[in-house]
Amino acid sequence: MPRLDQLLSSLGYGSRKQVADIVKAGRVRSGDLILKKPDQKVEAADVTLDGAALEAPYGLLAMLHKPLGHVCTHSDGEGPTIYELLPAQWMARKPAVTSIGRLDKNTSGLILITDLGPLVHRYTSPKAEVEKIYEVTVDRELDPALIATFASGGVMLRGEEKPCLPAKLEITSPLTASLTLMEGRYHQVRRMFASQGWHVEKLHRSRFGDYTLGNLAPGEWQMLELPADPA
Ligand code: URA
Repeated sequence: MPRLDQLLSSLGYGSRKQVADIVKAGRVRSGDLILKKPDQKVEAADVTLDGAALEAPYGLLAMLHKPLGHVCTHSDGEGPTIYELLPAQWMARKPAVTSIGRLDKNTSGLILITDLGPLVHRYTSPKAEVEKIYEVTVDRELDPALIATFASGGVMLRGEEKPCLPAKLEITSPLTASLTLMEGRYHQVRRMFASQGWHVEKLHRSRFGDYTLGNLAPGEWQMLELPADPA
């Protein structure tokens, strides 16, 4: 079991000194019992602060509808970051939250956010083969022959040695399509279309693994349940 002050601090409630003051002020309980000693061991699920359960005590997983124009890096050199859209307390967690993979600045859609390193690895490792669905708008009429090309597993991206895994393309109108990928290379969707002579004008990710955006508006986030075995 963790120490109370370490637990609160790791969940972003303040520095060790700040959370010790919160504890000494009698604001933290386990069940009905007021916890007075910052160094006592506690069961995270039983602890409340000002009457509220602790936020995501065993790890945080959320999805964000990334709007166009935000970057997925932690520094804001290239524009506003997705982290500005999330509660400040999530960045104060130890470790701080991070995105599971990235979307380009000019791509919108679903991105997962977590503070669980093993989960990042599980979803982003090349072996993970998590299904991602992208809604694509291109600059000129799509050719149905692209369906077989993308499905063939033979598409080569410039500067790379291995072809892309087979991908499923569904043409939904002359200029729009859904593309399902099982991998996540740098700028993959744009580069796949570029390799065949199309320019991607608009790109939106509607699905990542089992998760879809539902009614989440651009810039909004939603907490998700942790998978049964997040580590
Ligand atoms: N493919 C891209 O080209 N950009 C993204 O943001 C995601 C996938």
